[in-house]
Amino acid sequence: MDAYVVFGNPIGHSKSPLIHRLFAEQTGQHLDYRTALAPLDDFPAFARAFFRAGRGANVTVPFKEQAFALADSLTERARRAGAVNTLARRDDGTLLGDNTDGAGLVRDLTVNCGLELRGKRILLLGAGGAVRGVLEPLLAEQPEVVVIANRTVAKAEQLVHEFADLGPVSASGFDWLEEAVDVIINATSASLSGELPPIAPSLIARDHTFCYDMMYAKAPTAFCHWAGEHGAVRAVDGLGMLVEQAAEAFLLWRGVRPDSAPVLAEMRRQLAMS
Ligand code: NDP
Repeated sequence: MDAYVVFGNPIGHSKSPLIHRLFAEQTGQHLDYRTALAPLDDFPAFARAFFRAGRGANVTVPFKEQAFALADSLTERARRAGAVNTLARRDDGTLLGDNTDGAGLVRDLTVNCGLELRGKRILLLGAGGAVRGVLEPLLAEQPEVVVIANRTVAKAEQLVHEFADLGPVSASGFDWLEEAVDVIINATSASLSGELPPIAPSLIARDHTFCYDMMYAKAPTAFCHWAGEHGAVRAVDGLGMLVEQAAEAFLLWRGVRPDSAPVLAEMRRQLAMS
């Protein structure tokens, strides 16, 4: 049976094996997908050993940049992201590196949430790996502007420098912004500790602004809670992005796009019970 893994460290709580098992059952694909705890000090050798027989891998923290370096060839979106979250072994034995995080986010926003991004003013909070990974697919939706606001403004400015050729993008500090936007996407890791980036509530136009937190949890995240309190039309967490980036990887490996809606519903049900 074709073997797939998700490389990470730590990796014990990964939801990827369950998501891919559900995709495989649904599409009638026969594959084996497991977690793989890769050593922090020798990811390349560990990954190469797996790929002597393995067909594909997802890659999570902290190995996405090392997977980028390991790949023999890259998709354009992975090249732009500077990070790889999906590896596929091709018939000639070489490794293709892809990054499906941004496509997963865009699909969750546009298909699952029914949001039109073209012509919208989008505010991205954070300038880390997640933002780098989503900028190319977000700009491809032709928003009016993407503003990247970050605690360390120089990192937002660096991203603007690297992505400005793809569309209108600008950098900001959190407290420089006041005027309402159409979409706010929280891609800071502040939520992990229940904190909020210090942004003004006036950025939310009552019953109009859509808010999205890349983090997800059983209860509404701090950011989703804040968004709801200040009148956002909707506040959605990142579970759908997780499922959709997996669906993009499955499509790359197997040539079949799974129907993500029932899988997302099942993951939501399991999260609520956890
Ligand atoms: P990084 O560590 O690369 O970047 C973290 C970012 O958060 C930086 O911009 C950092 O600012 C900012 N930050 C951290 N703490 C605070 C704080 N207290 N206040 C304000 N800003 C803060 O992380 P990633 O980009 O990889 O991940 C970001 C989030 O996205 C995580 O919550 C992660 O779980 C989530 N994610 C979800 C995915 C999904 O599928 N749903 C996929 C990928 C990521 P500074 O530059 O100033 O340090």
